[in-house]
Amino acid sequence: MTLAAPLFDRLALIGVGLIGSSIARAARASGAAREIVATARSAATRRRAVELGLADRVVATNAAAVGGADLVIVCVPVGQCGAVAAEIGPRLSAGATVSDVGSVKGSVLRDMAPHLPAGTHFIPAHPVAGTEYSGPDAGFAELFVNRWCILTPPEEADQAAVERLAAFWRALGANVEIMTAEHHDLVLAITSHLPHLIAYTIVGTADELGEVTESEVLKFSAGGFRDFTRIAASDPTMWRDVFLTNKEAVLEMLGTFTEDLSKLTRAIRRGDGDTLFNHFSRTRAIRRGIVQIGQDSPAPDFGRPHPALPETPIPRPYATDGE
Ligand code: NAP
Repeated sequence: MTLAAPLFDRLALIGVGLIGSSIARAARASGAAREIVATARSAATRRRAVELGLADRVVATNAAAVGGADLVIVCVPVGQCGAVAAEIGPRLSAGATVSDVGSVKGSVLRDMAPHLPAGTHFIPAHPVAGTEYSGPDAGFAELFVNRWCILTPPEEADQAAVERLAAFWRALGANVEIMTAEHHDLVLAITSHLPHLIAYTIVGTADELGEVTESEVLKFSAGGFRDFTRIAASDPTMWRDVFLTNKEAVLEMLGTFTEDLSKLTRAIRRGDGDTLFNHFSRTRAIRRGIVQIGQDSPAPDFGRPHPALPETPIPRPYATDGE
């Protein structure tokens, strides 16, 4: 969707990795912001952002990026959000909306809010879309199309500011849902964080097996293992921060998961086919529901255009943070 008039005059992006650079590309394509200013921690990434033409201006510091911006989106690993807020807080313009894209929302709210001055609108957000790739080359404008973006505004948030940020994400192609940060963290613990933990575990386990060779694991990976390897290739910094910052919700879900795994273990041990069949039938219905609501395709390698990586297999965006 291309807008007749921009929703924001100046968008400042702190961090131009997969998510930040995808926002830059999508905001440019949709006309959602009149001007884009970007920065990143390293000179190498800032240089790449210039080469890729991601922004109208690429500046050297976080503080310099936010001056005069009416929308600031912090696109860094969640563990960095507090420090970034401390740097940008004194330089924010009155009335600016400050948001982020972190996969955990409670810790972001806790770490950023104290540094943001009165008169600015802090509205945390999480686009539930991603791939296992990182960095400015990995982004693409279509990443958010038909994906959810969850906004978690604090109770006292200005409703007009929330609606304007929601309109921004809709312009990038996303569907917007609003919930509390606490609820977000519980929902994402089961839909995204736990699946990633399982993928990281199983790929590590396969790697340590003595009697199955590495070449056999790779050769026969289509038998369920391949999708785990894709998820387990996700960025280690991002995922370390997710588990450190969403500890309570993940441990709660892990407890329930372990109990359910024990039930299936018992059924296998006892040769209880009915329990296995009934469980698998229930989960098959859940999968069909996901396909029906358009969050995945029945095709095994559903992909999207990925102009930045023409020579590599098209990454398959997934609705849990590769989310
Ligand atoms: P990424 O590709 O690794 O990019 C991170 C960016 O942040 C890089 O440009 C990095 O700069 C910059 N950065 C890191 N620390 C910084 C600091 N202190 N000041 C300024 N810039 C800094 O990561 P990503 O995948 O885009 O993830 C970013 C955020 O999006 C994370 O909070 C993650 O939870 C969330 N998220 C990710 C996904 C996903 O699938 N990846 C999906 C939804 C949400 P340098 O390159 O110079 O280090």
